[in-house]
Amino acid sequence: MNQTNKTPGITCPRCNKTIPVSIEQLLTSHSVICSSCCLVLTIDKQQSKKAMDALSKVKKAQDEVEKVSTFIAKAASKNTTDWSRQRRLT
Ligand SMILES: [Zn+2]
Repeated sequence: MNQTNKTPGITCPRCNKTIPVSIEQLLTSHSVICSSCCLVLTIDKQQSKKAMDALSKVKKAQDEVEKVSTFIAKAASKNTTDWSRQRRLT
């Protein structure tokens, strides 16, 4: 068992090919279709809740990074204006 598959996806139970699935797809869609044998895989969100939670956490973390970086950018520009105002007052 030394399979290091870097492509994210689900292994097709019928043809054993990897069906590439993105995190977004897993979270939003209810089924995935195998491009090799056209088998429709239904994503059981109840059964795979733990995995889904982990995935949404990753997704959230990515969103947070974006939020935080824009916040830092805003805070930095605000500090500059405060700083110049303070210098004027003194
Ligand atoms: Zn297949």
